[in-house]
Amino acid sequence: MAIGDCTRLVEKVVARIRGWGARKLSYTGRLVLVQSVLSQLHVYWSRIFVIPATVIDRITTICRNFLWSASISMANSPYHGSLFVFAKKHGGLGVVNSRKWNLAMIGKYTWWLACKSDHLWIKWVNHIYMKGVDWKHYEPSQNTSWTWRMICKVKNIRKFGYVHNNWATANGVYTINAGYQWLQGSMAKVEWYPLVWNRFNLPKHSFIVRLCARQRLLTKDKAWAFGVVNDGICEICKLEDETHMHLFYQCPFSVSSWQLLKDGFMFLFLGRISFLVYSVEVQIFIKKTHCVCCSACCFLLYMAVRELVSS
Ligand SMILES: [Zn+2]
Repeated sequence: MAIGDCTRLVEKVVARIRGWGARKLSYTGRLVLVQSVLSQLHVYWSRIFVIPATVIDRITTICRNFLWSASISMANSPYHGSLFVFAKKHGGLGVVNSRKWNLAMIGKYTWWLACKSDHLWIKWVNHIYMKGVDWKHYEPSQNTSWTWRMICKVKNIRKFGYVHNNWATANGVYTINAGYQWLQGSMAKVEWYPLVWNRFNLPKHSFIVRLCARQRLLTKDKAWAFGVVNDGICEICKLEDETHMHLFYQCPFSVSSWQLLKDGFMFLFLGRISFLVYSVEVQIFIKKTHCVCCSACCFLLYMAVRELVSS
């Protein structure tokens, strides 16, 4: 499959995105739609073909621009955020890395080469191409098909993984998810994961709090650096520049908001009673409620400041 063969695939993605009322959707709504487009790509096309990296990058750029600016521009603008193609617990948006997922999908064929000699397709491949050569050392000639050469390329990338993870042994079982996780590599869990992706949170709160945790919100000091506003002074206290640290931790308004939240929480759940007197289930509930309240407070603080700036 060449790049030209995938034009129809890119057109389908663009047509699908164009059909959505993007301007009326929140970031969270757009993220759900991006995941649905990419998941269709993963579930169907990646399973069958080695999709050229250029095509995957083009689709990823379209989805990224749609997420951050509600446009379908193919320009690789530096002002747009990334799609953060890794798991939520690792700080991402839960969007799958399409290139690696495609490799993991095609890895299934190469695993068959290593372990499934009785498979009809493997028998055919052995008869036509490999002719008894060991799968680890086989190299395709240039006059074989592009798809076969790509499968062999994936084999060369992954053969260490098959051995390292015991997938190529008699009892080894390769799964696409395991192959994908291996390609992603080990990543540390971010400490703010329970706060941001608590399932009790409203999705729009999670999205804004995640940007806050990564210091990616558009605060006034950044807008000033871009030349969008005349100064970076905090609109609430007019004392210091509006940075993440100031807006959420140092501004007198946010300090009093956090104090009010803390007082209310103590009054409702704790008071003079020790946290430990509650059952484990109630303790978990209290912790999750605390996360929900903190996320909502963070979201409302940010929205209040943005309203002040825009008014
Ligand atoms: Zn302030």
